[in-house]
Amino acid sequence: MGRLRVATSSHDPEPQPTFMPVRAERIIMSLFNDIGRKVEALKQEVEKASDDEATHQCSECETRLYTDHDECPDCGSTAVLPLSD
Ligand SMILES: [Zn+2]
Repeated sequence: MGRLRVATSSHDPEPQPTFMPVRAERIIMSLFNDIGRKVEALKQEVEKASDDEATHQCSECETRLYTDHDECPDCGSTAVLPLSD
C-alpha cells in the first residue's frame, strides 16, 4: 500500500506554480511588441529618408543622394543635380 501510494504520488503532477511559464510568455510578448515598434519606427525612417531627404540625384543612373556629391558614388558620373520640387 505504501509502495503504491509512493508510485501514484510521484506520477501525479503536483500543483506546480504556473507563474513561470506565464511570466516567460509575457516577456516574449513584450519583446515582440518592442521589436515590432522598433521595426515600425525603422520602416518609417527609411521611407522618410528615401522620399524626403534626398537632395540630389544622379542624372545618369538616377541614384538618389542625400548629400551633395561631385561624383555619383554609384556610377562615377559628375552629372549630379540638386533635386527641386
Ligand atoms: Zn550615377
